[in-house]
Amino acid sequence: MVHNFNAGPSILPAEVFKQASEAILNFNGTGLSILEIGHRTNLFQPVLDEAVSLTKELMQLNADKEVLFLHGGASTQFMQVPMNLLPQDGTAVYLDGGVWGSKAIKEAKHFGNVVVAGSSKDKNYTYIQRDWQLPETAAYFHYTTNNTVEGTQMHFVPDVPFPLVADMSSDIMSRVMDFNQFDLIYAGAQKNVGAAGVNMVIVDKKCLGKTGRTIPTMLDYQQHISNGSMLNTPPVFAIYVCMLTLRWLKAQGGVPAIEKRNNEKATLLYNTLDALPLFRPTVVKEDRSLMNVIFVMDDPEAEKEFLDTCKKEGIVGIKGHRSVGGFRASLYNALPLSSVQVLTEVMRHFADRKG
Ligand SMILES: *Cc1c(COP(=O)(O)O)cnc(C)c1O
Repeated sequence: MVHNFNAGPSILPAEVFKQASEAILNFNGTGLSILEIGHRTNLFQPVLDEAVSLTKELMQLNADKEVLFLHGGASTQFMQVPMNLLPQDGTAVYLDGGVWGSKAIKEAKHFGNVVVAGSSKDKNYTYIQRDWQLPETAAYFHYTTNNTVEGTQMHFVPDVPFPLVADMSSDIMSRVMDFNQFDLIYAGAQKNVGAAGVNMVIVDKKCLGKTGRTIPTMLDYQQHISNGSMLNTPPVFAIYVCMLTLRWLKAQGGVPAIEKRNNEKATLLYNTLDALPLFRPTVVKEDRSLMNVIFVMDDPEAEKEFLDTCKKEGIVGIKGHRSVGGFRASLYNALPLSSVQVLTEVMRHFADRKG
């Protein structure tokens, strides 16, 4: 039994792996592989349509929201967002909450003025900065809802007088939110929604076409909307895996049900960490992520030993990001509570042995 705490690409439901592998050999009884069907056929179009409609349903999106499945990962959105939303002489406001947010800031600067309203870099991004310096006007306010590398999460939606744009790559559909508050949401699929190779963009039609800039076709959201995410060949298999994962999420009871389970998993792990002085969570309590739990040990030898112990117990993917060190346990939607129970048992035994 393997317990997969990988940060991304990461665990997906077992039944999704099974269905996806069957579709590689024989897609819906057609005798054809999902890998060899045309994207503009009546075999694939229903897959894309269902992925879009499940997204609208699970996120309870209103009629102005368009759901796109695009290439290039969340990182391409770092430039595509300002290209489509930020006029040359306009200002965009960004929160610098971690490595992903700072990469988004770097790309936005190619397209207009960027005001960094707040940064938690002074404390290695171990908290959410709440004391923001806002300009008078702005084209939008961009933030990362969950900082995957550093393990902080915004447990509130910014109350600012600007359109909201969010990178939700590592916590999309993991908790209940009013997703209609956002002009634009983007997320790489490979953490909570599906396979690597596709990212989701949920955009309010009303905010497009205002920059005065000529946008290359493949980077223009309006073109993607007009062509139903099929300007060119979409990542067919990755979209199929998303569709299966979204079906699974709906069958679990949707976002409210998965949020409840995600809370249970994170509570168990943080309570264990707080009870065992050998382990030290790095993030301040109120900003702790329910998706990525970061902790360190003060003795590097003990860290090595703990990693070996985990390996023996089938626990994989908990080595921390190279920029933070220590450990990162990612608790995405598909990770069962039983895996967290195994991890916390191993931690308790390890601490007993060391104590
Ligand atoms: C993983 C991640 C990204 C990068 O995603 P890619 O698809 O690899 O470009 C961006 N933002 C956040 C918050 C992430 O977790």
